[in-house]
Amino acid sequence: MPASRPPDEPVYLDHAAATPLNPDVAAAMEAAATLAFGNPSSPHTAGRAAKRLLEDAREQILGTLGGRGAGAVRDRLVFTSGATEANRLGLLGLAGPANWRPEGGLVAVSTRDHSSLRAAAVELGGRGWQVVELPLVGTGAVDFAPARSLPALPAPRILTTTTVCGQTGIRADVEEEAKLAGAGWLVHADATQGAAWDDLAFATGPWATLALAPHKFGGPRGIGGLAVKGGVTLAAISPGPQELGLRGGTEAVALAAGFARALQLAAADRAEAANRVATLRDRLEQGIVASARTAGIDAVVVGADAPRAPHVALVALAGLDRQAVAMAADLAGVCLATGTACASGSTEPPAILAALGLPESYRGGSVRLSLARTTTEADVEQAVASLAAVLNRLGPRPRT
Ligand code: PLP
Repeated sequence: MPASRPPDEPVYLDHAAATPLNPDVAAAMEAAATLAFGNPSSPHTAGRAAKRLLEDAREQILGTLGGRGAGAVRDRLVFTSGATEANRLGLLGLAGPANWRPEGGLVAVSTRDHSSLRAAAVELGGRGWQVVELPLVGTGAVDFAPARSLPALPAPRILTTTTVCGQTGIRADVEEEAKLAGAGWLVHADATQGAAWDDLAFATGPWATLALAPHKFGGPRGIGGLAVKGGVTLAAISPGPQELGLRGGTEAVALAAGFARALQLAAADRAEAANRVATLRDRLEQGIVASARTAGIDAVVVGADAPRAPHVALVALAGLDRQAVAMAADLAGVCLATGTACASGSTEPPAILAALGLPESYRGGSVRLSLARTTTEADVEQAVASLAAVLNRLGPRPRT
């Protein structure tokens, strides 16, 4: 069960940006750092010990993801610095010489994709690739019409998808999307927000590559990974002898050990934790919407009718300014977000809100609250009470 929060600490509801390090993970990292101080590329005893721990972590992560660890076409895992780099390696790697034609190919993205994925697609655009923006339907699924209406579909084609949207928590049905796209597409999936909650069954899923980062589920930051389906050829974007030749540089063995432990812990209580966290999220959403209405503010939960992961609540407050809400919430002891952490300086509301058809008056007032396994009922009750006071102050006076 989650530990209770000291009363003078703020309620932290920004776990989609980063989660606290799980003490069990910290212990695994400390043990690995003590044991594996050598460079995994060194052939001596200390180097070999480090290499062994690194490969154990890799194998364990692939195993937890449901990857194929043996046989002629085994799946692989490349450690990266985080999901941003994993997304870039996935997209640019798939677009590399093995799958490449001089005239470039086609890459499809959508507004639910993280900025790192969209930036990688833009980079491909700069190399002559055609970039297609797939619109979203109301439930957050992509509409393939713009790709189908192209006079000719260039090959190769890469479909980017996000298993759980970091801004809304809406799940993608990647299986269905791959089917709708049809033959000839390589799928790169960003599972950064979904990995803590979903059994990804990597070996049988429709993806060629899958990005993830453990700081979203109690693991360390500074490391991420790209799982690569057996038989898929990737080009290195930062070549070197390490990491199967796909990423140069001395590997972070202790971080890899922490990554493996964090994923293992997340997988161990997935179903129970998802239920518990979804119940807390629902309570949080209901509490905020009710408080907003009491304060005379119209409020909606974005994606309420869509399939969602349990940990994200995106609440749109009509007529309010999301930066003002976030600042006032922080002063009142609640850490929440105005969108993804990378976009928190942006003055523009997240583009996905328009793509999902949210009326303009709500878009500027959307705030994201995100939970984790460590979130307690007391946290939620405290947040609801504090935000009720904030909304009462910021919102229009109740009509008499
Ligand atoms: N993809 C998604 C869906 C995310 O939510 C994030 C971070 O918030 C990233 C990618 C980037 O992850 P990292 O910070 O590990 O680079």
